[in-house]
Amino acid sequence: MEKILISACLFGEKVRYDGGDTLIDDPIMAQWKKEDRFIVLCPEVAGGLPVPRKPCERDLETGQVISQDGEDFTDAFHQGASIALNLAKKHNIRHALLKERSPSCGVNLIYDGTFTSNKIKGLGITAKLLKENGINIYSEFDLDQLKTDLHEK
Ligand code: SF4
Repeated sequence: MEKILISACLFGEKVRYDGGDTLIDDPIMAQWKKEDRFIVLCPEVAGGLPVPRKPCERDLETGQVISQDGEDFTDAFHQGASIALNLAKKHNIRHALLKERSPSCGVNLIYDGTFTSNKIKGLGITAKLLKENGINIYSEFDLDQLKTDLHEK
C-alpha cells in the first residue's frame, strides 16, 4: 500500500506552536488510516523545537525563519525538512499532505514574515525541499486531487 507523508498536526497530533492540532475531518482520512498509509511527522518537532514554541515566519528576502522577537530558528527548520525528506525516501513516498500556511509545511501560501497575518504565495521549508526532490505536495484543501493522484501510477 502506497504511503502518504502527513503533517502531524493534520493527523491530530498536538504539535503546533500553540500546543494544538489541525485534524482533518474527512471520511477519506479514516480510510487511509485504516489502510495504514500514513507516515506522520512534524518537521519542527523533528528539528528539535518544543511544544509549545514561539510562532515563526519565513523572511523571503533573507531566507531566515524568525520569531516575532527576532530569534533565528532557521537551522532547526532546515534540519526538520531534511528529516522529512529522508523519511519520505525511506518509505518511497510520492505524495505528501501538508498543512497550508505553515513556515515548514505551507504548500501554496505562507505568512509574509511581517507577523501581520498577511499571506503571500510561497512554500514552507519542508514543502519546498520535498517538492524539489520530486515529491507531490498537497495541502488540506487538495484532498480530492490527492485521492485522484494516489490511484494513478
Ligand atoms: S511544522 Fe508542520 S506538522 Fe508541525 S505543527 Fe507546523 S504545520 Fe503542523
